[in-house]
Amino acid sequence: MLELDEVTAGYGATPVLREISLRVDSGEIAALIGANGAGKTTLARVLTGLLPLRAGTIRLDGARIEHLAPDARLSRGLALVPEGRQVFATLSVAENLRLGAQAVRRRLGAARVAALEAEMFALFPMLAERRASPAGALSGGQQQMLAIGRALMSAPAVLMLDEPSLGLAPLLVADVFALIGRLREGGLSILLSEQNARQSLAIADRGYVLERGVVALSGPARALADDPGVAARYLGLGGTARADPAREAALTERLRCVLHP
Ligand code: ATP
Repeated sequence: MLELDEVTAGYGATPVLREISLRVDSGEIAALIGANGAGKTTLARVLTGLLPLRAGTIRLDGARIEHLAPDARLSRGLALVPEGRQVFATLSVAENLRLGAQAVRRRLGAARVAALEAEMFALFPMLAERRASPAGALSGGQQQMLAIGRALMSAPAVLMLDEPSLGLAPLLVADVFALIGRLREGGLSILLSEQNARQSLAIADRGYVLERGVVALSGPARALADDPGVAARYLGLGGTARADPAREAALTERLRCVLHP
């Protein structure tokens, strides 16, 4: 579905990312684990087209996209939930959601965009309750859900999430991870960049460990989670919490309606 081959990119003379090769197959979660400064956000910029790559290729569904502008990649089905949510604080919740569909409005049509907005409010009832409120007035967890909803408004095939658990309380982190797992069940392919190695590898199908801009280790997520080297370096990072089963069941039910209307 999404395939990077030997991607090199950076800001100055020295590349930050060196010969990164990774893949996310259809309907799976690939976790990209790395400490602060490993290059996760740089990779997100390269994938969205905000930062040009110096070498390598990016393929989406077999077609090369590394030469495409950000909005063209979005319309091809590659959407990002950026680090730190980056919601538009003074715009309302509903306006933030609509912005997510901006690049695909013509392709999807007004009726589909309106339907997607209704689906997001069904998926995230607390956003529906606050649809007219400025996004800046939401809690951190609600802003994270809004950022995810905004990305889903482009009806993506591949969703990248850059540190979605950052700064959230453990119970909310569990909610976010539960949501990501359910999105995969709905057929989305997901690239999950995280410092929280334990919880990411627990829900992922495959994993990549990014160290100072190179993929130091990769493999099935379960094998990485059991790897003593990964455990020593990464599994202490981030808290763990299980989602409340009742909350999880309610979420699954809502997602089922959204993803299979
Ligand atoms: P974090 O969790 O702190 O965001 P990260 O894994 O996302 O870490 P990046 O933000 O991609 O890491 O940073 C990787 C490296 O690139 C770091 O050494 C950082 O200082 C450098 N870097 C990031 N953004 C820029 C920039 N705009 N200009 C120059 N160097 C940058």
